[in-house]
Amino acid sequence: MSGRDSGLEEAETASGFSDLSDSEFLQIEEPEAGDSEKPSSSLGPPAESEGGDVAKGSVLETGKRKRSHVPLEIFHLRYLSVTDISAQVWCEQQMVYRRELPDLTPPENIVLLNTGKSIHLARELEDHDLVTVSTTSREDSWAIKVLNLLVMLSVLQAGHRVREFPVFGVLEDIFVVGVIDQLGYTPKGELELNELKTRNNASMPSAAQKKRDRFQVFLYKYLFDAMVRGCLAPDSFLQRLHLRPEQPLGPQVQEQARKSGFTVSCFCDLLELLSLNLTHCDIPAIDRLQIEYVHQDSGAALGTEVLAYDQDEVGAAVRYFLAYWKGQRDSRGVDVEDAWKCRYCAYSGICEWRMGKAGSPAEQWKKSK
Ligand code: SF4
Repeated sequence: MSGRDSGLEEAETASGFSDLSDSEFLQIEEPEAGDSEKPSSSLGPPAESEGGDVAKGSVLETGKRKRSHVPLEIFHLRYLSVTDISAQVWCEQQMVYRRELPDLTPPENIVLLNTGKSIHLARELEDHDLVTVSTTSREDSWAIKVLNLLVMLSVLQAGHRVREFPVFGVLEDIFVVGVIDQLGYTPKGELELNELKTRNNASMPSAAQKKRDRFQVFLYKYLFDAMVRGCLAPDSFLQRLHLRPEQPLGPQVQEQARKSGFTVSCFCDLLELLSLNLTHCDIPAIDRLQIEYVHQDSGAALGTEVLAYDQDEVGAAVRYFLAYWKGQRDSRGVDVEDAWKCRYCAYSGICEWRMGKAGSPAEQWKKSK
């Protein structure tokens, strides 16, 4: 499973919100070290022969503003999700406002997210059960993500399908996490990534929405391929996320690891296992990328997009988008040809980018007012 869209077409088109990856929004909270026990994460054993799962990625930490021009520091973020970066494809400025002013998020977007979560959760439960595991530290929370990855690697290696596959990587010096909807093998033996997008309207998405979906899927492949090539240094969990290697894992996490076939007592034990598994796995790079669009109410298939991967394109886009997070450039709103997006944007009344462009002679901006 993995949520994405669904919802009001007008809202979808207007806000670009619908296709955000709710599998990543479903991510578990990360209690800070020393927090009291918190039953926040879940991890499931394989159902039948297929993959166990699932603690989702991340709830990003926010707090008081520092005097900094680096958005990662301003927002107190140790990592980004694929969802964060994909949102920049639609409108980077809107993504910034959503983070700065979450109270302005339209209620219909919350409905869209919740609906998407339910649909994707239902799909996920077709493959495996979810188990709630109490966590007592940030290391526990990340341990569950790593455990899910270890379990799914072995399921995938055995030739089975997995859902909600976590991916991690360091891009442009920033730790990035994501959750792939589904990975499985085609009859020809190709490794296929399938991204499910449910839609409120019984129609295929606009070109602008497809563009964002395409980037999201490209980014998943980018991260996955690097991981199975052994490019993910386990130390990056410690250095980027400031996790403590010797932190003992909570009893429920250790027990869940044991049930999955791993004996671990502290976070670095898991990282060693991860390093071993990624170094020695013979899982190939993803061969085939597709996005499946489904009508939310009827479940009818709306269409499937098979994507031709372009590594140079995704690499250039990642560099451009992450430059904002590193404070190397200011955030940008939409270009003039996409001014129609402003018409329904929840932030159009306060958007300085739009106001700055409103005097533009371009017809599109006049129409967006
Ligand atoms: Fe982006 Fe337009 Fe919304 Fe500003 S008003 S945040 S430019 S979509």
